[in-house]
Amino acid sequence: MRTQIAIIGSGPSGLLLGQLLTEAGIDNVIIDRVNKDYILGRVRAGVLEEGTVGLLDQAKAGTRLHAEGLPHDGFSLAFDGRDHRIDLHELTGGRRVTVYGQTEVTRDLMERREASGSLSIYDAVDVAPHDFDGHSPFVTYVKDGVAKRIDCDFIAGCDGFHGVSRKAVPERAIRSFEKVYPFGWLGVLADVAPVSHELIYANHPRGFALCSMRSATRSRYYIQCALDEKIENWSDDRFWDELRRRLPVHHAEALPTAPSFEKSIAPLRSFVAEPMRFGRLFLVGDAAHIVPPTGAKGLNLAASDVHYLFSGLIEHYREGSDGGIDAYSQKALARVWKAVRFSWWMTTMMHRFPDTGDFDQKIQEAELDYLTHSRAASTALAENYVGLPF
Ligand SMILES: Cc1cc2nc3c(=O)[nH]c(=O)nc-3n(C[C@H](O)[C@H](O)[C@H](O)COP(=O)(O)OP(=O)(O)OC[C@H]3O[C@@H](n4cnc5c(N)ncnc54)[C@H](O)[C@@H]3O)c2cc1C
Repeated sequence: MRTQIAIIGSGPSGLLLGQLLTEAGIDNVIIDRVNKDYILGRVRAGVLEEGTVGLLDQAKAGTRLHAEGLPHDGFSLAFDGRDHRIDLHELTGGRRVTVYGQTEVTRDLMERREASGSLSIYDAVDVAPHDFDGHSPFVTYVKDGVAKRIDCDFIAGCDGFHGVSRKAVPERAIRSFEKVYPFGWLGVLADVAPVSHELIYANHPRGFALCSMRSATRSRYYIQCALDEKIENWSDDRFWDELRRRLPVHHAEALPTAPSFEKSIAPLRSFVAEPMRFGRLFLVGDAAHIVPPTGAKGLNLAASDVHYLFSGLIEHYREGSDGGIDAYSQKALARVWKAVRFSWWMTTMMHRFPDTGDFDQKIQEAELDYLTHSRAASTALAENYVGLPF
């Protein structure tokens, strides 16, 4: 088989890139090691920047998002027993974020892809990129016990942090930067109305908590937990009790609860691989970088990578210029590092670290106080939260 772009990975970055290419008339094939239902069962991000929404519109996958997504003009930082609202809309000259689950983004892109007739191969075994440092790259995989090969012009490695694309790059050609945080997030999903119509990020002596949502009837809650915490030790009642303790009293008393239908513990990590291009292989999204979810940036960064790569590929095919693809890594990384910094800063400011002493605690409180009383500081937070331009 031959295609122009072989895309490894059918997560948000692979699907978005594939759909933009399809809409632009550039042939592409997506190959994933798991099936569609497995991918749609993954509960992950939920806060979309305007740039991400714009790309989904460009991919013609934004109809349901506009009908069902929840526009948010602000969020709360809760500390000292009180809410401090960050007015995103006012501080950024009218910008906002949209709450719409990653599962729904993925479903919309998959449906659009199916309607447009582009090929996706699921349940592929031993997927591997080859010869990307030459002129004739190809991807091999095994499907139903039969070895297959796709020849292509370029390979997009959209296969997430644990994928094969980054690992296929010789060690000497890649540099990694990593920070592992000494705690995780215990998250639950429940079909119950959110405690507040906006997100609440809570800094509390017992640890961080986040009140988020996927819709007006589905809530997503997280609490900071130890890395060795066992999920089986957390009944729903224990989770709701602990969450209440970390919220201002008026939220704790109003918290609607219901049986959870998803409960998981996620470690927190910042990771960046440089560069993001190796000959005819491009790393995109989580394959190249991950951030702790505190700043709601993971999915949005995947989208901005897609934007830079798609623009470069368009320039290549329509104008015969490689300027865009040559600049891909540098442009993407410039934005990635700013989001890595923001996510690290939010994480550091909002969590209890095992070695947090009285001094560190006072510094955190002073920072939160400054942040919520200085327009300049609130504006810096707001403009990063709604997303830096790309
Ligand atoms: C538990 C969790 C919670 C998160 N919460 C948030 C959040 O609240 N906010 C936020 O912004 N971000 C969050 N993220 C991050 C966000 O989900 C990711 O940034 C986003 O999914 C990146 O999309 P992607 O397409 O680059 O990678 P992925 O979504 O990881 O998709 C990669 C795809 O590649 C496939 N693949 C992997 N290996 C292979 C292989 N060898 N061969 C073929 N295919 C392969 C996988 O099956 C998958 O479908 C969270 C992530 C996790 C894990």
